[in-house]
Amino acid sequence: MINLKQYEIWFVTGSQHLYGPETIQKVAEHSREVAAALAASAPMPVNVVFKPVLTTPEAIRQLCLEANSAANCIGLITWMHTFSPAKMWIAGLGLLKKPFAHLHTQYNREIPWAEIDMDFMNLNQSAHGDREFGFIGTRMGLNRKVVVGHWQDEEVQSELGEWARAAAAWADWQGAKIARFGDNMRDVAVTEGDKVEAQIQLGYDVYGYGVGDLVKAVKEATDAEVKKMTQAYLDEYAVAPALQPAGEKYASLVEGARIEVGLRNFLQAGDFKAFTTTFEDLHGLAQLPGLAVQRLMRDGYGFGAEGDWKTAALVRLMKVMSAGLKGGVSFMEDYTYHFSASGNKVLGAHMLEVCESIASNKPRLEILPLSIGGKADPLRLIFDANTGPAIGASLIELGNRFRLVANVVDVVPTDAPLPKLPVAHALWLPRPNLKIAAAAWIYAGGAHHTSFSYAVTAGHLRDFAEIAGLEFLVIDENTRIEDFKHQLRWNQAFYK
Ligand code: MN
Repeated sequence: MINLKQYEIWFVTGSQHLYGPETIQKVAEHSREVAAALAASAPMPVNVVFKPVLTTPEAIRQLCLEANSAANCIGLITWMHTFSPAKMWIAGLGLLKKPFAHLHTQYNREIPWAEIDMDFMNLNQSAHGDREFGFIGTRMGLNRKVVVGHWQDEEVQSELGEWARAAAAWADWQGAKIARFGDNMRDVAVTEGDKVEAQIQLGYDVYGYGVGDLVKAVKEATDAEVKKMTQAYLDEYAVAPALQPAGEKYASLVEGARIEVGLRNFLQAGDFKAFTTTFEDLHGLAQLPGLAVQRLMRDGYGFGAEGDWKTAALVRLMKVMSAGLKGGVSFMEDYTYHFSASGNKVLGAHMLEVCESIASNKPRLEILPLSIGGKADPLRLIFDANTGPAIGASLIELGNRFRLVANVVDVVPTDAPLPKLPVAHALWLPRPNLKIAAAAWIYAGGAHHTSFSYAVTAGHLRDFAEIAGLEFLVIDENTRIEDFKHQLRWNQAFYK
């Protein structure tokens, strides 16, 4: 469902006519080569397309307008091989609606000490040409990523790849539709927020539906569809004996399959990219959708429980950001603590809805009671999550702005088996430790729900926040509480 190769980044080189046609010709050749190298580099998830060298304000303006209207163009990489007087860029950059990264590189890696002459100097002058371009970005207050280094260096290529993922995720949000079945869990604060402001600032649109709309889709699921889905369950998972065709709860398995078919059809028909449910509003549904939600997340849908549309959007965003990378993305909640000499840990889980993409083993498909919601026992996949570095991110609304906060963590094996825990789970050590991480998170107002990923890094989120104009706070091995509180106070002033 997520295909980053549909996207293009345009490689745009600035110059001027002063140097004569021969130099411009060389600039174009070099640019073509750099663009091709970036396109072919392993970290670049999207296509990089060379665009003719720009030497006039009219051409720059035209290019920016074309980028705005090209649906598959998710941003520009700009580079001034020679000197490109930056007043030429004002009109174009003023109109540009797509993100851009400024690549500060030079075609020649090293100075040819014995041969260097004025011709070489005139061709390889990005050292000052890019500074002229940088000035106008700053003068105009434009958000952008600056990447410095030789274009063949792995570090430069991975920084651009990382930024491209952030740009792709931003593109995915623009015009994205999120289906919200029911409203917010009553009285919960952090899952609320200004949906109109989110649409203006972040580009996605939250559509409200009564749960009856979903019930109708569930009822319309055909027997053939339900049969096929039931068989998929039996094929893909270690299914509990009671749920097997001869078991006493097989009817519940079929009912769960019917719910998934209905939910899936509803989301596909409406072209939704994410959705929310709430256990307080399930009229007409036999079970709270658990298994269905887990599988839809696996397939790329964003999800938020209890009406949490901001986290649903964030899970989707991080799915797009990490498409094709190793490690999954899931909706998550900081559930229970383990205060212990072996390190203070967080057990993350939810009532049911943890994404299969982070499973370390073949999930067990079980049916067990849910002590909340007052419905029939719901189906769910149970598994241990992968171990290793991960990140939990939360998007909150502070009244005058959105804030993105993230904590880098290390997922570890559980100290002992959890034979009675009826849900999928992950156990982690927050960085730098629980004491600092949880205090910083709470000072920052981070939510109890997160989007949790082993593939997305703080770097991806930082680039994304820059593109989106979001406040971004990361809690990691370098976090100190007093510094973090200063950052919060300064940001408060900055964003006023
Ligand atoms: Mn929750």
